[in-house]
Amino acid sequence: MILDRIRKRIDYARFYTLYEQSIPTIDTWQAASLQRLIHYAEKNVPMWNAILKSQGIHADAIRSTRDLRLLPIIGKNDFLGKPSDEYTDNSRRILTRESTTSGSTGKPFEFFPSNKYFDPLYSHFCTFRFLAHKRRSLQSLSKMRNVRIRVTSNTIPNRLYIGISEFLQDTGAALTKIRDFKPEAIYAPPSLLLKLAQAVGKNPDDAISVPYVISTAEMLQMSVRAFIEATLGCEVYDSYGTEEVGTIAVECERHDGQHLLPESAIVEIVDMNGDSIPEDQEGRVIVTDLLNYNMPFIRYDTGDRGVMTTVRCKCGLYTPRIWIKGRYAGFLQFYERTIHRMQFETKMNCYMSSVLQYQVVKRTPDELLMRIIPVPGFNMTTEEHIKRDMRELTGERVNINVELVSSITPMPSGKSQTTVDESIQA
Ligand SMILES: [Zn+2]
Repeated sequence: MILDRIRKRIDYARFYTLYEQSIPTIDTWQAASLQRLIHYAEKNVPMWNAILKSQGIHADAIRSTRDLRLLPIIGKNDFLGKPSDEYTDNSRRILTRESTTSGSTGKPFEFFPSNKYFDPLYSHFCTFRFLAHKRRSLQSLSKMRNVRIRVTSNTIPNRLYIGISEFLQDTGAALTKIRDFKPEAIYAPPSLLLKLAQAVGKNPDDAISVPYVISTAEMLQMSVRAFIEATLGCEVYDSYGTEEVGTIAVECERHDGQHLLPESAIVEIVDMNGDSIPEDQEGRVIVTDLLNYNMPFIRYDTGDRGVMTTVRCKCGLYTPRIWIKGRYAGFLQFYERTIHRMQFETKMNCYMSSVLQYQVVKRTPDELLMRIIPVPGFNMTTEEHIKRDMRELTGERVNINVELVSSITPMPSGKSQTTVDESIQA
């Protein structure tokens, strides 16, 4: 009994301090964690049992993080069209809420997040890693007053959630709410943080004071960072994550790349063929979530591109750093309404059974065109529902048209863009 308790304490301490350890220590810990996950997935998740069989191996073959190469890279397409029993843990009832995402790739997608998502102790430890590193206690971090500007959010104590549409419709009112809430941190995409800073800049009487701002989901330009810091009197920390896996990397106080969170995920950078590439070269970002036993994401293609280094950071940490390339902000403006790409994405998440991929195009000042790659379930009713949902966002004055296509042209980065403004060239 006492031994059990001591062992648990040691495991807990190892887990929460892993990011401060050397690369060999991290590697050993990750290998053990990976072995546990693969064995579990082989036994309890039919899709993973089948993948291992198709590779002619058993879970025993994966002993180190380098052995991940024996497994194929998987993506959203590997899950689409399959019943969720195929790719989730069959041994127990899954308690996490099912989430949907289309991310910035335009592919509607349903998934079951890891339990870590719902634990403020752990989720704040991820988001505010730079404060943990400054010896802020886990308990104190989990109680930090923070604001999230997102399409949706789970409400937990000490968090003020502001929806993106609410924020864009009346930024002034959102600013007042934030000021009254007195947060220690604001978490939002940089394009929205910029709008917030511009609102403060226009009216100095509206000034707010917030020590930390965490930017996420889009590229943070240096000029935007400087403007936000000067206007809100804060320090900006850039972070990287995906809807499926959660936070994957966060900056330290040196702001020179984002440190991976080694207790949570293994990140690989690979070329177009899936082979690993030398450090400092840009490639596809592939992630293995070590904590999701509900729906294992092993060698999962994020659709993002990035560069990684294992050179020790000046902050003292050995955990590798990553620089993500080409996550874009996206707004479409129709008359007086500004709509963020995430608002379109949230509407389209309801159509995963009938839409393979889509793109929202502003063709002219009063025409929104939906380019859609349909799957067999798509019909006239689906089309009407999509038009209705889009009209809710744009308002009645905009014509909504649907074009069924067989492919959507990706950007030079290889990632498709969910929102495009073609009215500028028109
Ligand atoms: Zn650092």
